[in-house]
Formats: sequence, structure tokens, C-alpha cells
Amino acid sequence: MSNVDNIAAPAERTPAPPFSGVQIPRNVAILLSEAKAAGTLSHAYLLTGSMGSGKYETAMAIALARICPNGGCGECEECRRVIRKSHPDVHWIEPEGAATYLVGQIRMAMRNASLTPIRASSKVFIFTSAEAFNEQAANAFLKTLEEPHEDTSFILIASSRESVIPTISSRCQEISFPSASQPASIEALVAKAKCTPEQARAALAIEDGSIERASELLASYDRRAIVAATLEALRAAVGDDRLELLACSSNILSAIKGACKDMEETYNNEIENQREFLGKGALSELKKRFKRMMASREREMLTEVFAVTRHWLRNNMIAGIGCSELAIELPEGTKRSDSAACVLSPEQFVEAQGIIDRASERIARNVTPRLALDAMLLDIREVIHANRHSG
Ligand SMILES: [Zn+2]
Repeated sequence: MSNVDNIAAPAERTPAPPFSGVQIPRNVAILLSEAKAAGTLSHAYLLTGSMGSGKYETAMAIALARICPNGGCGECEECRRVIRKSHPDVHWIEPEGAATYLVGQIRMAMRNASLTPIRASSKVFIFTSAEAFNEQAANAFLKTLEEPHEDTSFILIASSRESVIPTISSRCQEISFPSASQPASIEALVAKAKCTPEQARAALAIEDGSIERASELLASYDRRAIVAATLEALRAAVGDDRLELLACSSNILSAIKGACKDMEETYNNEIENQREFLGKGALSELKKRFKRMMASREREMLTEVFAVTRHWLRNNMIAGIGCSELAIELPEGTKRSDSAACVLSPEQFVEAQGIIDRASERIARNVTPRLALDAMLLDIREVIHANRHSG
């Protein structure tokens, strides 16, 4: 399977049967239903496009088509488990390295791929960042990708075909997604998350246009607490007290830990369950792996902190150039007085963006979250105060 059909999917979405559990572009739904009926679903799909274009939802739909005994009804116990991401035969695999898939992680997934399914008649492996395959990780994947067990299939998600290492992309059937228009995304999110259009706009801005992730953000008390803690810190950055700012930085990290708590509990339970079956070496491998996955989750949450910070700065910059109606309302409600207290010039806005980029690079290079966050907030404070002294 090296030949590629590139299917352009329009932004229009429909809950077309048989994928009633998820909203995906209509032509993709038709394509998948036909392939499912003809028994010609590819064993490896590469879904490409920007955030919010429907890639994640489509990955979910393909998993449903594979797993559900009714072809993807969206309603049976199997479908519900897939949608909740708790089906033991559907694996969502995120990079455990700072920016790459680790070879050990891929080897473990491939060993898992060679075993028989637990509940369903097939297994699905979804790689959420196909760009994160470096050569070593790709080598660990290639043999299975070329000759998969007949009940195993792979779905790879990436921003573009070019961003994926060619040895992998050439072995997948590509489905490409153009970006959804913003009004359509807001409407879809309002319907999905039962929120106001303002909340939808803000959540989409924070999650880079991804409806799936924006809806997770709106539904999660813990993650909205991270947004609130970040806004609190930015307000403190306008004030004079550096110690208060650092205390706010700690609060952000506590909020992140809080949001990772359920994941930590799941891992601890899993380790307890495996304790009597695994040898000492294997158990310690499992613990290390869970530790990496926790760190990867924390980095993901920090990305959200950076996004909130960018939008807060943007709000204040826009207020400064006199078109505050364009400013985005953040979910926890930035107070209007924020803009009055801190008006940034476009130059200062650009400088502050550079500070966030550096913080983000530091996290990718495994600098501790505390150091990266403290430095970012203190530097942003400097930029804000330079403004006030000169103005
Ligand atoms: Zn079903």
C-alpha cells in the first residue's frame, strides 16, 4: 500500500451515519462508510491539516468503524468506550520525548500490536503527532507498518504530509483537511459544549482552533482552573510585587498538578495491579514510562498557559491601539480593568511574544516547568513596567 489518494475534505460537517458519535466532514464520512462496506478500509491512514479541521474526530470515526460490531453506531458499549478514550484496543499514542516519539515507546506499542485484541476483533493505534517520528522511532515502526497483523490498523495525525518522515508517509493513505472557517467552528463548539459564543471563541483561540480540545477545556474544571491561575499571574505582573508574582507562578503549577491528578491515580493503580505479575525490571520500566507520560502531560498543560498568556497580551495590545471590541474574552473572564491597567504598544507585544517563545523552547529542552514559568512571568513583568515608566 504505497499509493496515495489525497482526498480534500470540505469544512462542512455532519453526524452522518454510521458515525453518529462524532462530527466529521461529510465526504470523509461517505468515503469511510463505503470503504467499510466494501471491506477496503486502509490499514494505515495519514490525516493531515490544521488544528480544528476535523482530523481528531475522523481518527475517532475510523476507530469506531474498526471496533464497533455495528460498523460505528456511536451508541453501543464499544463505541462509548472508544469515544471516552477508554477502549483497551484503541491506543492514542502521544510523544513521550520532549518533542519526539521514543524508540522504547514505539517498540512497546509494536509488541502490543502483535498481541490479540482484548475486547474487539481488531486493534487501532492512533499516533497523535506523526511529525514526532524521528528516524530511530520510524525504524522501530516500519516493519509492522509494512506488514501489519490483519486485525491491526494505524492512524497518523499530522499538520502536513511534508512534516512526516517519508518512509512513513509513503506507506499511508492520506486524507487531507482544509481549515474549518471560524464561524463554523464556533457554531459547532457552542452545540457540542453548550457554551456561549464568547466562551467558544476564547476556548478555540487557546486551543489553536481544535474543536475537540476546546470542548475538553470547557468541560474540565481543573483545566479552567489553570486558565484562571494564569490570568491571576498576569494581573500580578501588572502590579509591583515580584514575590506575589512568583506565588502566582506556583499556583499555576499547582493547578497543573491538580489537572494531572486523575492520570496519576490511574497510573498508580495500574502499577499496583501489575506488581505481582511483573518482574522487578519490567515494573521499574513501567514506572519510568508513566513518569515520562506525566511529564509529557504537564508540558501539554503548559502550552495552554502560554496560549492564554499570548491572548491576554493581545487583548491589552488591541486595547492600546483603540479597537478593544476585537479582544477575546477568556473563559474565566478577564476583567475589563486589566486593559486599563496595562496597555501594551505593538513593539512591547512583539517583545513579550518572544519571551513566551523562549519559555516554550526551554520546556522543549527539558528545563523544569518552574524555572521556565518564573522566568517568563518576570520577563513579561519587565516589559509591562518599561511601558508604564516610559508612558
Ligand atoms: Zn457501536
